[in-house]
Amino acid sequence: MDISLKNVEYRYQADSPFERLAISDVSIDVPSGTYLAVIGHTGSGKSTVLQHLNALLKPTKGSVVIGSREIKAGRKEKNLKGVREKVGIVFQFPEHQLFEETVEKDIMFGPMNFGVTEQEAKARARASINLVGLSEEILEKSPFDLSGGQMRRVAIAGVLAMEPEVIVLDEPTAGLDPRGRKEIMDLFYSLHKKRNLSTVLVTHSMEDAARYADEIVVMHQGKVFTKGTPDEIFSN
Ligand code: ADP
Ligand code: MG
Repeated sequence: MDISLKNVEYRYQADSPFERLAISDVSIDVPSGTYLAVIGHTGSGKSTVLQHLNALLKPTKGSVVIGSREIKAGRKEKNLKGVREKVGIVFQFPEHQLFEETVEKDIMFGPMNFGVTEQEAKARARASINLVGLSEEILEKSPFDLSGGQMRRVAIAGVLAMEPEVIVLDEPTAGLDPRGRKEIMDLFYSLHKKRNLSTVLVTHSMEDAARYADEIVVMHQGKVFTKGTPDEIFSN
């Protein structure tokens, strides 16, 4: 599934005294199967860009094309469920969003919300927990009895259980130790290859951007400062 942002502007709390221009004139293409890294300083607009990839935010100017859907500024958009189902976002510190009594229920929540049967959701929970390198015994535990690293993996399993075509990762390894970071990055890379996903990664790590990405976008003060292949970006 191809995604593209066309001259996207986004203002938080538009038309209020608290209005804040976060990004402007942002054009980014994510053709199906691409691994795109987005880098830039804090406040440069990376997370705002990401939330346009599955229509969590809608542009205040410009448009976003997600597969066959076009989301245009100033138009009411109905039924974005299909879009949200296909584009899974792993937010920063996703473990903060765990809430169910058990790990299994937490992972099942997303798929069931999108109409998957209970039996299928259970099967997906088991498959996803294996994918993120945890043992199935953990499914019966409370998410709040786990270590930070385990909670992060459970939260990621919840997104994988949706079986998205596009995975969007907002600094997925923030706060993990170096070994945990490498494991998580390798997991996403192998999924990217095996399932022919599109992957969009926000990272502070130039190394990760260079190692995994086909394409890098550098954000600066709410605009695309430059974009290109890792070779092009790092030769400058
Ligand atoms: P990054 O992810 O690169 O750190 P963000 O997309 O979070 O950048 O932020 C871009 C700009 O938008 C910043 O100036 C930030 O202060 C502002 N911003 C982000 N979220 C909100 C919000 N919920 N309300 C108002 N302003 C916001
Ligand atoms: Mg951010």
